[in-house]
Amino acid sequence: MKLTVKNLSKTYPNGVQALKNVDLEISNGMFGLLGPNGAGKSTLMRTIATLQDTDEGSIFLDDIDVLNEKDRVRDILGYLPQEFNLDPKVTAEDFLDHIAILKGLTDNMNRKATVEALLVQTNLWDHKKKKLGTYSGGMKQRFGIAQALLGSPRLLIVDEPTAGLDPEERNRFHNLLSEIGENHIVILSTHIVDDVSYLCSDMAVIHHGEVLLKASPVEVLETLGGNIFEKEINKNDIVTYREKYNMLSSRFFSGKTFIRIYSGSEPEEGFVKTAPTLEDVYFHYTKNGKKVPEKVYA
Ligand code: ADP
Repeated sequence: MKLTVKNLSKTYPNGVQALKNVDLEISNGMFGLLGPNGAGKSTLMRTIATLQDTDEGSIFLDDIDVLNEKDRVRDILGYLPQEFNLDPKVTAEDFLDHIAILKGLTDNMNRKATVEALLVQTNLWDHKKKKLGTYSGGMKQRFGIAQALLGSPRLLIVDEPTAGLDPEERNRFHNLLSEIGENHIVILSTHIVDDVSYLCSDMAVIHHGEVLLKASPVEVLETLGGNIFEKEINKNDIVTYREKYNMLSSRFFSGKTFIRIYSGSEPEEGFVKTAPTLEDVYFHYTKNGKKVPEKVYA
């Protein structure tokens, strides 16, 4: 299955151009859409999920014209929006059963088996009799995935799913998504770099509504190969370094201050050339906006 987005543009009535000529091709597996808040991720996700129209462009899911054949898309789509409401007084099992009926699973035996399988898959089996209002953030997100998977979707869209989860919950959620990614297209929209580096075989960076680059995380790292340098500095000198160099990030560790810079040539003494991380990539492209290396730009 292949999702092809071509030349998609969207300007909201207040004049904000949320998407600018977005082109993307996405195949089976986990795809990470990485970008800061306000980049246009949710606008793109909602458009693919048929919940919003665009001004220009097309989206095809194999032969399905997504913008014009919404019912066909909805039959094969699972969507976990950034925010969703759950009835706090209903148990997970009953709520899932209710959504299953709404999604057309009318055969009782079949529906029961599907609901049970999803509760097991999302690790909520032991909590199925608990009311949703008592669920933790991670459990709610996993429940959100369970409901999105009802009806065996072939495309699953998850929008900012790990924001607010603690490390253990995130880890569990990552494992669930990668399992699903084995048989589905999963599009994961996030501003958290680690989510993409751990999970995705393909990714894009989006910023101010534009796709700045698209490639596998490994290829993306190669674009910065040999140009990332790190140095321990005196904390008071940070402004000077920021002015002098293309500084990507700083971190404080054990009372020491480290900075990372992007430089085409050897900077001053004390810098050590180091392997780029996906975080460097993210800062480099979102900070420098337009610098798009042709060789990875799809
Ligand atoms: P992200 O999901 O990456 O945070 P969004 O797609 O939510 O980005 O937003 C992209 C831009 O469009 C932002 O500047 C946001 O304020 C604006 N925006 C989003 N939704 C609307 C809307 N319904 N009306 C007007 N502006 C919007």
